[in-house]
Amino acid sequence: MPLPSTSKPRPSNAIQGSLPPTAQSRRDLARLDKTPNFMLKFHPARWMYVELPKCGECAGCKHNSKVEREAAKAFESIDPDRLKPCVNDDRGEFLPLLSKLKLDGGVGGCDYSVSRGYNIKDALHNARVQGYTVLEPSKVGLEYVRVYDCVGGGKAHLSMWETVIPAPGQKPAVIVADTVAYHDWLRSLIADGIIPQIDTMTAESMIESLRGKLARGTARRANDPGLDLRMRHDERRLRGMVATARAIAYA
Ligand SMILES: [Zn+2]
Repeated sequence: MPLPSTSKPRPSNAIQGSLPPTAQSRRDLARLDKTPNFMLKFHPARWMYVELPKCGECAGCKHNSKVEREAAKAFESIDPDRLKPCVNDDRGEFLPLLSKLKLDGGVGGCDYSVSRGYNIKDALHNARVQGYTVLEPSKVGLEYVRVYDCVGGGKAHLSMWETVIPAPGQKPAVIVADTVAYHDWLRSLIADGIIPQIDTMTAESMIESLRGKLARGTARRANDPGLDLRMRHDERRLRGMVATARAIAYA
């Protein structure tokens, strides 16, 4: 479609508008809720304990997969007493539980101004006062935020470890996280000295809190098979946490 010609010459300080979205780029829009831009931040008291996955190869795993196959064939649920331990049981690691510093108007001291962009300086200062280390992409050497255009307008900001899978029809898109790659990155932050290893006091308090949770369930587990199963899992987790914390303390 030809553009209407303008009679007056364009002033030298005129600015050019951007093109409307084409049919192709509309197809690339995802049904996501809009979310603000962010930076990841680390707090020395916030950690998670991650168990090593089953190895799938040891004698215990081979035995268990046989039990699982038989149970599936007979449409039965598996009696946990029939399962054998894996060499990876009771093994795991403490990884930092990062949170987001939202770069949104008014949140966390981060005011938005159209001309200056986000006032990141105040937000960074506030986070530091609260004991956080902000993982600024320029400082950790990785641009980890990815921006998506949303169907309803606006942008969604996700991490590079998340993949957006469009769902059919009007359903919201599914976000799938690559936990293995994300955990690799968390490990590299510790290895590169950007954040410290967990301190023994924090590990100890996580262990105590899980011990307390187990103690509170002791009286009820005999009459509650679901609770008993969850507590067996927590007991295994606790053994792993204790062993991992001990290894760090004596490292
Ligand atoms: Zn195994």
